[in-house]
Amino acid sequence: MTKCDKCSKQSKFFLAYGPINLCENHFNSFFQKRFKKTLRKYQMLKKNEVIVAGISGGKDSMVLLHLLEKFYSREQKIKALLIDEGIPNYRDKALKVAAKTLEEKGIEFKVISFKERLGKEMTEVMKKTGRKKKLGSTCSFCGPFRRKLLNDGAMEMHATKLATGHNLDDEIQSITMNFFDNDLKRMSMLGAISLGGKKLVSRIKPLYLSPEKEIIAYANLNEINHFSEQCCPFSWQAKRNEFRSMLNQMELKFPGTHYSILSFFENLKPFIPKQEKGMACEVCGSFSSKKICSPCIKLSAIV
Ligand code: SF4
Ligand SMILES: [Zn+2]
Ligand SMILES: [Zn+2]
Repeated sequence: MTKCDKCSKQSKFFLAYGPINLCENHFNSFFQKRFKKTLRKYQMLKKNEVIVAGISGGKDSMVLLHLLEKFYSREQKIKALLIDEGIPNYRDKALKVAAKTLEEKGIEFKVISFKERLGKEMTEVMKKTGRKKKLGSTCSFCGPFRRKLLNDGAMEMHATKLATGHNLDDEIQSITMNFFDNDLKRMSMLGAISLGGKKLVSRIKPLYLSPEKEIIAYANLNEINHFSEQCCPFSWQAKRNEFRSMLNQMELKFPGTHYSILSFFENLKPFIPKQEKGMACEVCGSFSSKKICSPCIKLSAIV
């Protein structure tokens, strides 16, 4: 029997990048300590914040909600924002799981949909993009639309911080994708915290240092209700999948690769030119880095 490195109990988790063996109790405290350390290290919260958590119903956002509530609900106000992209048999089911948990916990939440705010749900976008490949993948519409609605919704809920469930794997996939695309502008927008401004809520990623596998293990160990039955029916188009599988293979062969990529990005970030301040989009009035925001440009391409 392999023992836990912290006590005499049987090890249930082997974290190769440590390397470290942990029993269930010590894995739980290790995971929770790292979560709190992430918030401290990146100075994500001040006193009396209104934290609006973007909740999809998946493992990441439900673990985020669980931890925010467990450790920060006494000093901070926690609310939730659910975005319905209009993906039948997927997001509707996930949002049901999320809404049930939020109702049980008595957390204030709001649901906003692509259909109500943008006039189009993702199934309609799919029909348009499917025919015209040069428009880009379905996901290249979904991402900017969701980011816009998360910001708009968080503003309406008077958020001082918008917390999302992005984990370590998501972040290093984005870093590597931007590196492969030679896209410094997008890379400059990554990181654990991005400060907002007029019309832009500051965003935080409290699971920034938490590997995806460990989030799944933590959710199962703590019986955190989440939607895990299936993937988004459009996800086969996502370029991200290729990067996920490449980076996971590297992590398997060379444990610690994920954290190394993140450290490299953090060392590089001070040298990446900062984005100029944004403005209000001339079409929708939301935050934009150009005269017309990217979601409005994308919407006009699929009318
Ligand atoms: S996989 Fe693509 S289409 Fe599906 S929810 Fe994610 S970004 Fe949207
Ligand atoms: Zn132990
Ligand atoms: Zn706009």
